[in-house]
Amino acid sequence: MGRRGLRFGFQIWAGHALSGVLIATILFIPLSNGESNPENAWAADGTAVMLRRCPVCDLDSIIGHGRRRKQAHDERHDWIEIRRGICNCCGTTFTFLPAFSLPYTHYSLLARSQALRLYFVDRCSLESAAPTVMDPCRVADPSTLRRWFRSLDCSQPSFSFLRQTLAAVAQCLARGEIIRHGALRLSWSTLALFLQLLWPLRL
Ligand SMILES: [Zn+2]
Repeated sequence: MGRRGLRFGFQIWAGHALSGVLIATILFIPLSNGESNPENAWAADGTAVMLRRCPVCDLDSIIGHGRRRKQAHDERHDWIEIRRGICNCCGTTFTFLPAFSLPYTHYSLLARSQALRLYFVDRCSLESAAPTVMDPCRVADPSTLRRWFRSLDCSQPSFSFLRQTLAAVAQCLARGEIIRHGALRLSWSTLALFLQLLWPLRL
């Protein structure tokens, strides 16, 4: 399973069998009106959505191919329903995920955003920086938070780069600056998604 790059709204982790045949692709559902309030946008229409356009064939050839559930814990979600599709031209199968729920993860990027803010900006301990979750049995433990932060920053001393970046973000937001990446606007809620998208670009 390899990551082929990530563009907001329409990309893609793809798996290839040894033969080179495309076996599974994940597409992210673009946020429709999520610029000012991404949490509401996701709650309203971010799950169980399917796209019709096949990125391989460039045709509206994807049809429904079942549904399944995925964990995406945060304040307003626990398990979400997601759809699968198959292209009736090329046979590629697709899984459609909301932009705030990465593949193979159990917590949404809203939850990770909250943890980033609590730990790096509000200076909470790892124990008290656990994000608010609907399911009280799924409170993230400190090792989970450390793993999230480490996936963004392995600098020494620990997280020094991330700490510096979040201080700059806090200043920008306090000044009311508007920072966008495509349709996405940087806010405390979209922070983790933003970093996920832009992090590979850091020098
Ligand atoms: Zn196709």
